[in-house]
Amino acid sequence: MTERRLLMIPGPIEFEPEVLRALGQKTLSHVDADFIAIFGRAIGRLRDVFLAPRAQPFVIAGSGTLAMEIAAANVVEPGETALVVDTGYFSDRMAQIFDRQGVKVVRVAAPIGRVPDLGEIEKALKTQSIKAVAVTHVDTSTGVRAPVEAIAKLARENGALSLSDGVCAVGAEVLRQEAWGVDVAFTGSQKALGVPPGLAIVVAGPAAMAAYKARKTRVASLYSDFGQWLPIMEAYEAKKPAYFATPAVNLVTALDVSLGHLLAEGMDARFARHARIADAFRAAWSALGLETLPTSADVTANTLSALYYPDGVDASVVGHVRDEGVVIAGGLHPEARTKYFRVGHMGAVTGSDVLATVGAIERGLARAGYGTADGRGLVAAQKGLAAKAR
Ligand code: PMP
Repeated sequence: MTERRLLMIPGPIEFEPEVLRALGQKTLSHVDADFIAIFGRAIGRLRDVFLAPRAQPFVIAGSGTLAMEIAAANVVEPGETALVVDTGYFSDRMAQIFDRQGVKVVRVAAPIGRVPDLGEIEKALKTQSIKAVAVTHVDTSTGVRAPVEAIAKLARENGALSLSDGVCAVGAEVLRQEAWGVDVAFTGSQKALGVPPGLAIVVAGPAAMAAYKARKTRVASLYSDFGQWLPIMEAYEAKKPAYFATPAVNLVTALDVSLGHLLAEGMDARFARHARIADAFRAAWSALGLETLPTSADVTANTLSALYYPDGVDASVVGHVRDEGVVIAGGLHPEARTKYFRVGHMGAVTGSDVLATVGAIERGLARAGYGTADGRGLVAAQKGLAAKAR
């Protein structure tokens, strides 16, 4: 048994040793001056990572689904209507969350592998009274990337707020929250932010905070209420102790370390690296004759690949690839769950990880009876990496 398997699923991902070391440190009091400084710095760094200088970040213990619940609960009130741009599994979850919160849901959907037509979104916005538009930046079930900037613009032009689920995007896909006018962007810690699972991160822009302040009803969940957390986030940034609910001290410390890494790389460099890595993977998939779920390049994410099993191959290939040393994921979208697999490529992913992964997939496919692992995918990936490095 080896512990050196490479984790290449769409989250959690491989984490930097320095980030993991932060988790193993002695846990400080949540009101210790050292921790206050760390938390305050992490909150400030989130503005730089989301490119949202005037926004209010919230860092709350919980998974990405909590971030979805918090985003929905604070800016939309029961009885109001939200439009969900439906690109798959996680958009469906967002619709369920709104529904549970008593919010009416209008869905604009697309067939699997595509994004809904902007004209249809615009029509829904013009013909109905919509409080907010929710979009999944990258739907992790399909690898489809939605045009968040264009959708946020449509929302704004029609008097609606925009919410972007960036759980599988923030820190890897281009997001310029303020410039794009995205009112609430959120993520979890375990993907491209490079921190083990356990933090819900919500960044609310000025219009979202104004909508919160103008609410007629209070947020039903105490733990999800911006109003409970705002004084806490402000206190940490002002280097003052405060308490509402115990923060995940070690995870927040690890977050601060990882955000430091992201900003040292630089957001534009980071977006470009993810694009380059994704291109190298795509060159390999095409050399191997594998078809992707996203139906066109402009809707294909840089954070993961979703690939149909070739004819005659089934989900057993995921196990073969694992035996070859790389952990990848099976399908998730209910319409095609058994027909495809997913490879995550975000965070600290390197060119060497690309080659290790493509090599293991070639061998896994060969074990499943497809191809001969002759290295054609590897050659294509290597050429892609080398071309971009020049
Ligand atoms: N949204 C998206 C786009 C996701 O990929 C995920 C997790 N895969 C979630 C929401 C939910 O996050 P979590 O599993 O951390 O609750």
